[in-house]
Amino acid sequence: MACKSNEALQAMVEEARNWTTKGKVADYIPALGLANPDDLSIAIHYPNGDCFSAGNIEKKFTLQSISKVISLAFVLMERGKEYVFERVGMEPTGDPFNSIAKLETMAVAKPLNPMINAGALMVTHMIEGDSVAERFNRLLAFIQGLSADSKVSFSKEVAQSEYETAHLNRSLCYFLKEHGLIEEEIEPLIDLYTKQCAIEMNCLDLARIGIVFAMDGVDPESGKQLMPSEVARICKTFMVTCGMYNASGEFAIKIGIPAKSGVSGGIMGAVPGKFGIGIFGPALDDIGNSIAGIKLLELLSKRYRLSMF
Ligand code: GLU
Repeated sequence: MACKSNEALQAMVEEARNWTTKGKVADYIPALGLANPDDLSIAIHYPNGDCFSAGNIEKKFTLQSISKVISLAFVLMERGKEYVFERVGMEPTGDPFNSIAKLETMAVAKPLNPMINAGALMVTHMIEGDSVAERFNRLLAFIQGLSADSKVSFSKEVAQSEYETAHLNRSLCYFLKEHGLIEEEIEPLIDLYTKQCAIEMNCLDLARIGIVFAMDGVDPESGKQLMPSEVARICKTFMVTCGMYNASGEFAIKIGIPAKSGVSGGIMGAVPGKFGIGIFGPALDDIGNSIAGIKLLELLSKRYRLSMF
């Protein structure tokens, strides 16, 4: 896809880039620690195919938690919402993404929502197939369709690095297995989840996925319905209520668009009916959101009055 570099966008990237020094690249997954903290890039994809960008938009990054919203769409399509929401809730937590606290204190150990790790692991557990490879390839094919890029794949290095260090995610899984919510063996599930999180693309691809959510599931080029509009609506609602970790409330007030971030520094935005946004800026704030990415979205939202509220 051709994406035009845009001067106004470039100026906003340069302004927002000043914030990267105040952030820190995630290194609890060792391979993510290799990212360059100064990186910042953005692509904006319009329904008519226009695309505007700034920064080094060819740079690839892994989806990490951004994959959670896509795997949710996938299982909602496969299993239907009754099945899915019997096993994972719809409420924001206010806790960090990898917290186990609420699982222990709630009467039923069901994860509060699909955007925290416990809920995302439940969702990945629901992906159907006979083997990890089959389940992963089905999810990957869905993502390739959304991004209109059949070359999208995953980073073996990042997947392996997370697999070797995912002790907390294993604990969440064992807790959910103890309570009868997870029924499979934990190692294959962690294998699948870490590959899902390691799916890799650049911000053009991410903006292309954002536009599909923004357009209620419709592929802007072919006009095909890639996911039912209700699935896109549910996903966008989760993006607003819990897409930006425990800063989702502040993000809704300051920026006001459905968005999902990941600890790699990616942010996917879906401005309803208008455009999809893909951002990569690996320096993170204390909560785990791209620090310069958020500043960039703040500048954009103010200038173009993007808030939906
Ligand atoms: N793979 C990461 C984890 O589970 C994703 C976290 C994130 O991006 O928030 O720890």
